[in-house]
Amino acid sequence: MVGAGMAGLTAAHRLSGVTEVVILDKGRGVGGRLATRRIGDATIDHGAQFITTHTSEFAELVERLVGEHVVAPWFRGRVGPDGVNDSDGHTRFRGSVSMNAIAKSLAIGLDVRTASQVAALRHDGESWKVALVDGSELVADAVIATSPVPQTIALLQNGEVALAAKDEAALEAIEYDPCLAFMAVLDGPSGLSEPGAVDPVDGPIDWMADNFLKGISAVPAVTIHATPEFSRAQWDAPDEAITEALLVAAQLESAVISGSIQIQRWRYARPSVEHPERFLQLSGVPPFVCAGDAFGGAKVEGAALSGAAAAQAIESALGRNA
Ligand SMILES: Cc1cc2nc3c(=O)[nH]c(=O)nc-3n(C[C@H](O)[C@H](O)[C@H](O)COP(=O)(O)OP(=O)(O)OC[C@H]3O[C@@H](n4cnc5c(N)ncnc54)[C@H](O)[C@@H]3O)c2cc1C
Repeated sequence: MVGAGMAGLTAAHRLSGVTEVVILDKGRGVGGRLATRRIGDATIDHGAQFITTHTSEFAELVERLVGEHVVAPWFRGRVGPDGVNDSDGHTRFRGSVSMNAIAKSLAIGLDVRTASQVAALRHDGESWKVALVDGSELVADAVIATSPVPQTIALLQNGEVALAAKDEAALEAIEYDPCLAFMAVLDGPSGLSEPGAVDPVDGPIDWMADNFLKGISAVPAVTIHATPEFSRAQWDAPDEAITEALLVAAQLESAVISGSIQIQRWRYARPSVEHPERFLQLSGVPPFVCAGDAFGGAKVEGAALSGAAAAQAIESALGRNA
């Protein structure tokens, strides 16, 4: 398994009773875009902000996680430009401690190897050779790759795997929007109203949250996500220029504490063009399934459903059933 984000962790759970599963992730920890950073006393979710459920399958998982105090309701409905809650009937769930803690909880009991970057994926017609950046190699009967698709394509190219024309076209069609994620600790209240989130309609900001009002940070600390347009245009700009533009637009009530600013550049933040199915199994090679939030339904829920469907496809390909 490549990737210990929501898709990889869900797939691994499904497969772990059936076969031996190893999850490799290049990150220092698990979670991928379920990401949280500590800056001083602040806890800041800087990737996915909340989880919604639209399917009974995913709702069951979230309900279980609520029961285990890993997930908690944040607010119900949509946040408008004024922070007003115009209910759409869907609860927005947050991690009780943080969004990343959800992934940590899901990783319990799994063989997850972090700081393990895959460099190339090659096959000999029978099995896959997974080459890591550190020079080691794993042999696998099957692979599920949940890395963002352009990165999966690169891993296959590095292994000189010839893709069938239709698979190549399907993978090349998938696109992502970038996101510049700004984080900072404040010396007082942010000025955001309950529930601590704003979704502006124009300007460079796509989403802004106060992690203190969200209930995860001991001190006021903001997350500001730039729009895809701003993120694309300012991708290579110095942090100072990005900071200035976003803080002018944010109009926070309190000052940013000096030295607390961090910016995460999410190159593959959210899929803008998805594959229509929940996974793509490559043809003409040993079992290999591409999965993740770009397959058949974006967001954390889509990633989980894709991971589950990918696991099922691998079970069938290996001729085993859970
Ligand atoms: C700024 C932002 C805000 C968002 N807000 C929301 C939201 O509010 N609600 C929502 O539902 N969704 C949101 N999303 C989307 C959500 O985070 C994703 O849909 C979901 O987390 C994707 O899970 P995944 O497992 O498909 O991919 P990822 O979480 O990206 O996992 C892929 C993993 O693969 C690993 N990897 C990549 N290449 C390699 C390699 N060569 N070797 C080893 N490991 C590798 C990565 O380190 C990563 O951990 C947001 C995303 C971003 C970036």
